[in-house]
Parts: sequence; C-alpha cells; structure tokens
Amino acid sequence: MAGKKDYYEMLGQPKTASADELKKAYRKLAMKYHPDRNPDDASAEARFKEVSEAYEVLSDEKKRRQYDQFGHDGLKSAFGPGGFDFSRDFTHFGDLQDILGSIFGDSGGMFDGFFGGGGRTGRNGPMRGADLRFDIEIDLEEAVFGSKREITLPMMQECEDCKGTGAASGSVKETCRHCSGRGAVESSGGFFNIQMRQTCPVCRGEGSIITNPCKACDGSGRRRMRKRITLRIPPGVETGSRLRLAGKGEGGAQGGPSGDLYVQIHVRSHDVFARTDDDLYCEVPVPYETAALGGEVEVPTVDGYAKIKLAQCTEAGKVFRLRGKGVPSVDGYNRGDMHIKILPEVPNHLSSAQKKLLNELRSSLGEKNYPGMKAFSKRVKVFFERKEKMDG
Ligand SMILES: [Zn+2]
Ligand SMILES: [Zn+2]
Repeated sequence: MAGKKDYYEMLGQPKTASADELKKAYRKLAMKYHPDRNPDDASAEARFKEVSEAYEVLSDEKKRRQYDQFGHDGLKSAFGPGGFDFSRDFTHFGDLQDILGSIFGDSGGMFDGFFGGGGRTGRNGPMRGADLRFDIEIDLEEAVFGSKREITLPMMQECEDCKGTGAASGSVKETCRHCSGRGAVESSGGFFNIQMRQTCPVCRGEGSIITNPCKACDGSGRRRMRKRITLRIPPGVETGSRLRLAGKGEGGAQGGPSGDLYVQIHVRSHDVFARTDDDLYCEVPVPYETAALGGEVEVPTVDGYAKIKLAQCTEAGKVFRLRGKGVPSVDGYNRGDMHIKILPEVPNHLSSAQKKLLNELRSSLGEKNYPGMKAFSKRVKVFFERKEKMDG
C-alpha cells in the first residue's frame, strides 16, 4: 500500500473539512465517476472506488481519527488483509443512494442485492426468527426457591407439515436452474467486474424453488402456532430479573435460526414477607404479657416456623435476625437473612375477670416499672422549662 494517495486529497478537501463538506465533495466525485455514467471506462471505475474508500474512512469518526493519527497504516485492522474492498467494506450505501438517487431515478432497486454479501438477504432467504418478550408474575416462594412453569405462547414457528421447507409433502424443493442453486448470479459487464453479483431473480437468493408449495403455510415454511415452553425459574430472581431462553423465540424462516425468548419477572407482593435485595422482613405480633415476662414465640420463615426466645421486657420493635433464612443470591453461593420485628399486642375483648386482674396490676405498677416513660417525661419537662424562659 506504499505510495497510496491521501484520502483528503482524493476528495479534494482540507484536513479540517466538516462531515458535511466531505459528503458534498464525495457526492460531486461519485456522480462524476460513477460507472453507470462512464461505461467501459476502467479508470473512472477505479476513481469511483478510490473516492468511495476515502469517504468510507473520513465519514466514520473513529476511522477518521485513526487515519489522522496513523495514516493508512492505522486502518489495517479496520479493513481485511487485502485492504479496502468496496463490496465488503463500503457501508454508506444509504448515502450513495441518497447522493445518486436524483440522477439515477429509482435508486431503491438499484443497489438491492447488487453488492452481494453486503448484508442484504433476499426476501425469501433464511431469516432469523424474532426475539420475543414474555412477562410473568410469580409468587415470592417461587422467587426464593425457584420453580418450573409450563407456558404456552402463540408465535410463528416452523411449519410441521413441511418441516419448514415450504414445499408440500411428497414434493421437494428443486435446485434453481437459473443460478445453479447458488442464489446469486454473476455477470461481467457493468460496474465492478470483480464484484458483479446479483441476487438470483428467479429464486430470490434462496437457491431453490418450491414447485408445489405447502398448503398449511402457503410455502413460507412458518405458521402461527401455540408453543409449549418449560420455564425454569432459578432461585433468587426478583422483579426486573430477565431470563433469556436461547432459541425459544419465534421460529426462523426458510431454515434460519429461531429467535430468543426473554422472560421478564415480576414478583407479587407477599402477605407475610417483604423483601429488600436478598433479605426478608416480617413483623410479628406477640402477646403483650410474653413481651413483658419473656418466653418463646413461633415466627414464620420461608422454610417453615422457627422459635425465638424473648427476654423479659422485650421492647416493641425489637428486631431479631435469622441468618441464612432469606432469599438465595442468584449466583447460588449465599443466602440473605430474615429480619423479625416484634410487635407486642395490647389484649382485646377482655372479660370482667381479666379487667379486674389488670386493674390490680395497674395499682401495683409504679414509675420504676416504666423507665422509658420516666426518661421521656424528664425530657418533656426540660423542653417546657426552656420554652417558658424564652416566652418570659
Ligand atoms: Zn408448511
Ligand atoms: Zn436462483
């Protein structure tokens, strides 16, 4: 590649040219040297490829920076070993159509399949099925322990009648005679002798022809059907988790691969447990006298009941932490904790005998039984004294 001309020179632009200036310059030169305007002129074709290469590089911010810094050597990795190849490396067909459309009329069809292998596939060629998204609501228990679900989704799938070939049973696809099954035809005249490939117009690039189309799918090879999918929900998922089921999306067409299925998880709120990350929370009402006297209470966890020993005078709101009783982390190595908050409940529906007992208790209780109340009223007293001084 030694002695290769400077890209800016090729487009007749300074190094400081803006993207717009480069595009205008390219438009002028592309129209001038376009092979359709210069039939059988090899030098025009060569110039056309040169300016296209220059524009390909300079219209791409990253490539332009590389070129500015390292010259042609900087682009060795950007293009293949043989250097720039118009049919493979020129990505600005859109620009070119835009540029040439006005002089060549119906530009839309002009480039269709023209540069064979340039990313365009015949409408009937193999096509990957679409990715699908499915939203599922699960219970907290399923999120904690994982679960297996059978779901049925309507989607385009390979036609069972013809096994996706599109040909009626008994008949087969015949090799396209026009292109000998290659899906493309080459001709020597016209633009670029080396790359003159065109999608075969007879089989539309497929290489074969269905003479007797499958009736179930009208020869498309796909039908809308209900697909049963076994969904394995791993432990630890939460709202917002997304599972990817490779190949479980829409079926491909004409032998193309299936798309993927993305399952979006929504975990229902739970009657008993609340969740933050991998930890679970539960507020447990306990008898008021147990909180006062101490004793054992049964508390729920996702694994079953657990026993907690309350000390004498357990205050309302005290939290017990049960390690490893939360949600497993998705990586499976850890498990969160369970937080139990104790809420002593004031007894209700008292009988007269119970009221009598409570009254006896009340008369026996004094300030020293309620240190919290005592400390609080002290703070309140100080507050009012301060206020009085201010007002006074
Ligand atoms: Zn079919
Ligand atoms: Zn063909």
